[in-house]
Amino acid sequence: MPFVQPKPANLLQCPNCGNDTDFFEVNEEIVTTTRYVQNSDGSFTPVDHTSETRGEARLFCGNCEEDLTFFHPRFSEMIF
Ligand SMILES: [Zn+2]
Repeated sequence: MPFVQPKPANLLQCPNCGNDTDFFEVNEEIVTTTRYVQNSDGSFTPVDHTSETRGEARLFCGNCEEDLTFFHPRFSEMIF
């Protein structure tokens, strides 16, 4: 009987295709704010950029594009 290496229990895995490495997140409501300073020649230089998510983020498998949004709370906690 071959020894099967147990996977760490905390690994998120796509139930459809088994992918556990590639994921993407979609958020349709992101507000971006960019602060500019105007220079003496009339040009502008960006000094600060922030983005704020307003809507519900959705998570998808990067391999088969299965909707994995129910994993999203766990996914959010594991982004370092
Ligand atoms: Zn998948």
